[in-house]
Amino acid sequence: MGLKIFLDGELVEKESAKISVFDHGLLYGDGIFEGIRAYSGRVFRLKEHIDRLYDSAKVLMLEIPVDKNKMAGDIKATLKANSLIDAYIRVVVTRGVGDLGLDPRKCPKASYFIIADKISLYPDELYEKGLEIATVSTRRNIPESLNPRVKSLNYLNNIMAKIEGNQRGVAEALMLNSQGFVAECTGDNIFIIKNGVLITPHSSAGALLGITQEAVIELAEKRKIEVRRELFTRYCVFTADECFLTGTAAEIIPVIALDGRKIASGKPGKITTGLIDDFRKLVKSTGEVI
Ligand code: PMP
Repeated sequence: MGLKIFLDGELVEKESAKISVFDHGLLYGDGIFEGIRAYSGRVFRLKEHIDRLYDSAKVLMLEIPVDKNKMAGDIKATLKANSLIDAYIRVVVTRGVGDLGLDPRKCPKASYFIIADKISLYPDELYEKGLEIATVSTRRNIPESLNPRVKSLNYLNNIMAKIEGNQRGVAEALMLNSQGFVAECTGDNIFIIKNGVLITPHSSAGALLGITQEAVIELAEKRKIEVRRELFTRYCVFTADECFLTGTAAEIIPVIALDGRKIASGKPGKITTGLIDDFRKLVKSTGEVI
């Protein structure tokens, strides 16, 4: 039996899950999405992901055709239909079918679909060894044009950065904001640790407010680790004691070098590995039961 996709109110086979070439999600990247994980039959931070989806929609004046409860139910129904208890879930809302102009008023109804499948972003050994990353020249979108807090279908800013990262042979690329402060990576948030303090960019740096990032802050606070959200530059990453990235797909992954500078000993740090353990326990013991 093939993968079942939830598309505009019904579950359909993967092969029949199709949207129009006139959908503005495709023509203009006019739409939003979420990436969510289920672990051992529980959906991690479902409410937070749904809230962020509806907040993104609000900013883009995109009317999601169903309410939050129905959306949560549809996500669970998609997991059940595919008998998945460990999965990556992609929820996409597009502006819907319009004409060839970009005016969203020509798109009477938004479309949404949900894909639940397996994911493994990085090979296991990278979680043990850590990643090398590189700063790229593509800067993160300025919040005044397209706020990075909106998880929109228009990921070209990050894709441009990812291409540069690929050319440099690194698994993730670090993006600065227009002022040169560290913003985030192409699909992950960044943390550094210096003298026992956990630091992640302040929201004014212009990054997606990560749900994994927030979970890690809570775990650190439980361990009585001081947490700060502040603006910092590459200098602070080069000279950090530890560094790691967070994201729904990546979870927590250690970073051991930036732009050819080893971070401390060049091995994943103790606080990072402790937080990875805590996070693995958290995802298995919390979350909405499917
Ligand atoms: N930044 C960007 C640009 C992202 O696309 C993502 C999600 N993949 C993140 C950060 C991490 O956010 P979250 O922890 O909510 O998945």
